[in-house]
Amino acid sequence: MITDCHTHFGIPWVDRDGDNPENWLKIPEMYGVKKFYLYGHYNIYREKSVQADNDRLARITKKYPETFTPVASVWPQAEQDSVTEVLRCIEELNFKLLKFHPWIQGFSLAHPTMKKICDIAGQYKVPIIFHDGTPCYSLPEQIAGLARQFPKTTFILGHGGILWAWRSALEAMRQPNIWTMLCGSTMLAFEMFCEKTDTDRLLWGSDYGFSLIDSVGYRLHELTEARIPVPIIEKILTVNPTRLLEMSY
Ligand SMILES: [Zn+2]
Repeated sequence: MITDCHTHFGIPWVDRDGDNPENWLKIPEMYGVKKFYLYGHYNIYREKSVQADNDRLARITKKYPETFTPVASVWPQAEQDSVTEVLRCIEELNFKLLKFHPWIQGFSLAHPTMKKICDIAGQYKVPIIFHDGTPCYSLPEQIAGLARQFPKTTFILGHGGILWAWRSALEAMRQPNIWTMLCGSTMLAFEMFCEKTDTDRLLWGSDYGFSLIDSVGYRLHELTEARIPVPIIEKILTVNPTRLLEMSY
């Protein structure tokens, strides 16, 4: 079963459908995509929406436990409050992953609270997904720096460098605690990741849900039409997403 590891229950969906993902699910179902790592959108867009959006993701997941794996976010600028929210999400709401978007959320990866959160994520074995590929706070090499500082924490490059920084993301994969999501980069980059890096640490994602449009078909075909051996494609779409969750707490 295909898992899309990069989706959002986006602001336009929340505003239109509330907590109900029935309409949201119709687009990926056309392509046989049935499992999702589900991120928020309000929680990375507005600091004051963090708890409400994390709660919403927890509610949706509780209703569809076979379909969704919830991914929490917080704002490190909130310092101790963000640490408290991370612990609430992990311990009380059963979140398995964290996601940060330093480019939209506007914080540096060198923020001392970000480092505290990396440490906690390592202790709880909760992988951290980062938006990556855009300066000035979301470069793969900056995330690789964190991965070196926190070798017990698993870090995931949410876009594999996107369009311009995928070569840096390839280098970042030298760190054994970094995984890469093939999402939003080029077909050539996908092929390079599969040829030159540890394919046990590759995931695929569509970034579906930020808007109401279908980004699943294009992004799925970008992978399936690339010159990548079929067993590796199958591993990326079905085996690795499950294995990552089994490795977490
Ligand atoms: Zn995204």
